[in-house]
Amino acid sequence: MTPYEIRRLFTIAHERAVRFRTERDLWPQSPRQNYAACRADFDAALPEDPVPPEEVIAELADRAERGLQMSTGPRFFAWVIGSSHPVGVAADMMVSAWGQNTGNHQAAPSASAAETVTAKWLLELLHLPGQASVGFVTGATVANMVCLAAARGEVLRRAGWDADSQGLFGAPPVSVLIGDDAHTTVFSALQFLGLGHDRVVRVATDAQGAIVPAAFASALAEVSGPSIVILQAGQINTGACDAFATLIPLAHGKGAWVHVDGAFGLWARANPGTFALTEGMEQADSWATDGHKWLQTPYDSGFAIVKDEVAHRRAMTIAASYLPMTAEGERDPTHYVPELSRRARGFPAWAMIKALGRSGIAEMVNRHCTVARSMAQALAREPGVAVLNDVVMNQAIIRFGADKDVAEGDAITQKTIARIQQDGECFAGGARWRGQQVMRLSVIGFDTDEAEAERSVAAMLRAYRNVRQSG
Ligand SMILES: *Cc1c(COP(=O)(O)O)cnc(C)c1O
Repeated sequence: MTPYEIRRLFTIAHERAVRFRTERDLWPQSPRQNYAACRADFDAALPEDPVPPEEVIAELADRAERGLQMSTGPRFFAWVIGSSHPVGVAADMMVSAWGQNTGNHQAAPSASAAETVTAKWLLELLHLPGQASVGFVTGATVANMVCLAAARGEVLRRAGWDADSQGLFGAPPVSVLIGDDAHTTVFSALQFLGLGHDRVVRVATDAQGAIVPAAFASALAEVSGPSIVILQAGQINTGACDAFATLIPLAHGKGAWVHVDGAFGLWARANPGTFALTEGMEQADSWATDGHKWLQTPYDSGFAIVKDEVAHRRAMTIAASYLPMTAEGERDPTHYVPELSRRARGFPAWAMIKALGRSGIAEMVNRHCTVARSMAQALAREPGVAVLNDVVMNQAIIRFGADKDVAEGDAITQKTIARIQQDGECFAGGARWRGQQVMRLSVIGFDTDEAEAERSVAAMLRAYRNVRQSG
């Protein structure tokens, strides 16, 4: 392609992106088309011959835009989805254009250097041990897998078994303790690693989904040999955190490796107002978190953090896995992740930390937690609406028709969620909690503030009153 053609093409993409992000209030807050309609829209025979580049990009934008979620907007509360902050997106646009294969420091010098420095910043922001290593992965699912691979290798190595070279065939059994309300993707990580998603000891949790310390102590008493304990910061529905300061010393007393899944909850440590929720967590051995949730980077971005750098590297690489880094201290990005070739995820993460700074991140986390509390309080003032969790972080679960029996309340909650989505003023989704249907609110969009929250609560209550009146 000629320079002129490249400029034209990038300009089209740029203009479509700008339009989407700047005219967001003109777009419905729910996708205009569902998956089936989108599939029919995209469906066509395999292209036999070239199509002009500008046509391809314009056609892609037309089709994609019809089925976009407004998760980048300020009134989106479903799942736990960061808002792809414009600074991170701008950095990521350049990542794509630069096309760096971020495997090692020779193939991608600046991308590797940005990761080295961003890793250091992350450890400082999250108050984690400065010697820990950080792998830049796709998200918390893979971060959990990487950390647990390091855990598996290390606890078996201490028992005289080299799992990285010999696998698990004939290995001493590994005990895994995990809270009953851990995220499903942690069970997936155990599945990938041959530890089995059901071959675990599930420890009882309290009403908020946090591990009950007494239950933990008695489960731990039964354990002998190589063991891994998995704790959580930020339960997906309630935002609850396990009692790290109590549980981690108990686990270490038994020689267990302690891993923390803190996909979003780890960021509570970046805000002095919520730090206490995670007190003692720095004593763990590994931590998984996301960039694309609370740090607001575009997809995909997650961080696998391991205190023992050598255990981390042994689990992820064959080459030189027993050697320290080179004398010059070069850090190869591939040593800490499963992939060799991948995008330069360090650039957008670097840009987001730079753009927000320590104080900006603290302000944002604090604001989201405050907004979650005020949304929950405002909704709870309505007769028949109940908040089912202690809103300690940015997550709230709401029950509509709480004055009715379980089946009717489930139906009212489901209808209210459908109505909210259909009205399109804001967007929230459902979940199940302790056998009941709930609406889950995750306040995590960068631009979400009290004003956007008030507007959203008004829309939610309108939908709820409509459902109650019509049925
Ligand atoms: C979102 C989440 C995950 C999974 O993270 P991905 O980035 O979607 O891979 C794991 N654990 C918790 C607690 C989460 O909130």
